[in-house]
Amino acid sequence: MPVTHTPADHPLLSAHEADVLRTVVAFAKDQVAPGAAERDAIEKGQVDWETVRAGHELGLLRMAIPREMGGLGLSQIAIALTLEELAAADPGMALIFGATNLFQTPILISGDTRLQERYLPKFLGADPVLACNAVAEERNGTDLVLPQNAPYAQEMTSAKRSGGEFLLNGTKRYITNAPVATYATVMANLEGEPGSTGMTCFVTDLEQDGVARGEIHDKVGYRTAPAGELVFTDARVPEENVLGDERGGWDLNVAIGNVTRVTCASVSTGIARHALERAVAWSGSRRQGGRMLFEHQMSARKLADMAARVSASRALYLDAVVKADNILPTPAYEPAVAKLVADRAAIDNADAAMALIGAQAFQRGDGMDRVLRDAYGPRIYEGSPEALALVITGELFDVPEIR
Ligand SMILES: Cc1cc2nc3c(=O)[nH]c(=O)nc-3n(C[C@H](O)[C@H](O)[C@H](O)COP(=O)(O)OP(=O)(O)OC[C@H]3O[C@@H](n4cnc5c(N)ncnc54)[C@H](O)[C@@H]3O)c2cc1C
Repeated sequence: MPVTHTPADHPLLSAHEADVLRTVVAFAKDQVAPGAAERDAIEKGQVDWETVRAGHELGLLRMAIPREMGGLGLSQIAIALTLEELAAADPGMALIFGATNLFQTPILISGDTRLQERYLPKFLGADPVLACNAVAEERNGTDLVLPQNAPYAQEMTSAKRSGGEFLLNGTKRYITNAPVATYATVMANLEGEPGSTGMTCFVTDLEQDGVARGEIHDKVGYRTAPAGELVFTDARVPEENVLGDERGGWDLNVAIGNVTRVTCASVSTGIARHALERAVAWSGSRRQGGRMLFEHQMSARKLADMAARVSASRALYLDAVVKADNILPTPAYEPAVAKLVADRAAIDNADAAMALIGAQAFQRGDGMDRVLRDAYGPRIYEGSPEALALVITGELFDVPEIR
């Protein structure tokens, strides 16, 4: 059934990428999915290093790093399909690898060969190294997602020049991988500039004086992926670690956001697909009213809608990712639409699977509660439905400043 399988034979994948994806399919099925329930109960901030290490051995912490540098050199389309596959097994595991990729992506996009040579090889060693992209804060969420909101950001993490370096001060919050990450791209505002108008991206070593791990978050979903605060107190970052230009943070943020919205959509598609898989398995084996559940017309309608949502979500993110791979700058419209539809599909499919499976789905230990909790995660990060709506209508009316 093609809708429940990542298309490893997609014509846009190179032979190398198709090979990688086939190994990812096996890894997700044999090594990630079986431990999903156990990781859901994991102590906050802890990591299943054994599975992360197994993924690292396949190259999942160097997906986008070019092959000539020792990475897998995957296109965005292959990365998106990889993340869908991982998310169908355990979306938190997709986030661990995805957040590390999110650290590497701006370094790759920036074209800064010095930073690429310094930081990308750190992910090529025998041991897994995790990283993160630190944007969100206690007081600033969507205000650091929508450029038109920049003047309204408050008390944003600041960067103050001090000789040949910057001193970072502030707290980042809700950051995936923060409790265990070694490196971060940190968005900070140049001191003295209003709101976040001076936003600048700093490639930051986290294992140094001046950086503390703050609160570790106890999330209701995606529990596989650790998350927490990063607290900067006069943390020193050399000026050559500014990614792009000073005050170039917003341009970078928007560029990264347009690329990562596609992979976020692929994660949501994976969640929607897993819910469909559960519903199909149940409806094909559960008999009520003298026939299988799927043979009742109203159940059939639910299943068809679920399948259609998965297919539509995948088609939209594949369309968006082809554009992300081939058009510079990455367009805003297609990734926003793909994420809007896929985020909704994850929630709607989790809900429909709950309905179809009935009381069994309502039991602790069944696993559907995890799917339901995970399904609500994607619509929060990298653009809520409301933020995406502003991007989409901004494109429709050619007015980027819609509030
Ligand atoms: C699982 C998970 C992983 C995450 N990982 C990371 C990470 O790795 N790095 C990182 O930096 N952040 C991460 N985040 C945080 C995420 O980026 C923020 O949660 C997000 O930016 C939204 O901020 P907020 O939650 O504070 O909501 P708010 O911005 O306070 O929004 C609350 C509500 O108000 C609405 N709203 C806000 N502004 C507007 C507006 N202008 N117009 C209309 N409606 C509006 C929103 O749509 C939303 O419904 C993660 C979050 C989650 C849940």
